[in-house]
Amino acid sequence: MRLVIDQLRGGVPEREIVQGISLTIGPGEVHAVMGPNGAGKSTLAGLLLGRPGYAVTGGSVRLEGEGDPLELLDLPTWQRAQAGLFLAMQKPLEVPGVSLVDALSAGFAAGGRDPSQVGARLAEEADRVGFERRFLDRPLNVDLSGGERKRNETVQLGVLQPRFAVLDEIDSGLDVDALRAVARRVEAETTERGLGVLVITHFSRVLTELQADHIHVLSRGRIVASGGPELAHQLEAEGYARYEPDDQDALPAPGLAPPVSAPDDDPFADPLA
Ligand code: ADP
Ligand code: MG
Repeated sequence: MRLVIDQLRGGVPEREIVQGISLTIGPGEVHAVMGPNGAGKSTLAGLLLGRPGYAVTGGSVRLEGEGDPLELLDLPTWQRAQAGLFLAMQKPLEVPGVSLVDALSAGFAAGGRDPSQVGARLAEEADRVGFERRFLDRPLNVDLSGGERKRNETVQLGVLQPRFAVLDEIDSGLDVDALRAVARRVEAETTERGLGVLVITHFSRVLTELQADHIHVLSRGRIVASGGPELAHQLEAEGYARYEPDDQDALPAPGLAPPVSAPDDDPFADPLA
């Protein structure tokens, strides 16, 4: 089974951010998407899972392989999850009143799996990435540090066993030991179970344990370069400057005064419109 992202476009209602992204992830493959802040990486993740607030404007995201292709963009998020997609969010949400055990038990039940297994599986997965067991019965992510939330996302991935995982900066906020544990856990899923991964990251460090097959550079909503693992090291050494277009369709940097051509009768007018 392959996850086929085909000329995907979309963004927030006011603005198209992702402007035609195509890539295909096969079983067991790891694709890394790297790019500067604001390139559209989290938007890509949001579009893939149908996060509220993001709108698709074109393209297709399909599961292909067994029988007819399944168009995921036609499905609500929960059905995409049941079809085998998983998102580890850049900023995992706090869900007061719902524990991790509750949330995953509901997920298991909805998918026709036996929820009585969840408690034991959670404890096992928590130990693998150093996530404290006392957090398992507490409200989801409430009062957890950034790094604890990232371990929590990894625990959920381990228990839910998706076919494809989108990991949005799973490495941010983790110390070196936690980073290694998380990356190794995901790598084991790719080799043992054929998990396909789209890992969004700024740093090649996570890729020393989670071995990427393909690296893609995202800039202004487009993939502007693709290559093998060596590309990650080059990016870390050189930065993204060479992939940034020097045309002036960029928004002004925060703090800069708008160009004089902005109409002065409307202080809220878009100076570039
Ligand atoms: P990345 O994850 O690569 O840092 P994002 O996908 O989060 O980037 O954002 C891409 C661009 O879209 C940024 O310029 C960001 O400010 C803008 N953006 C994201 N969400 C919204 C929103 N809800 N409204 C307006 N602009 C947004
Ligand atoms: Mg982001």
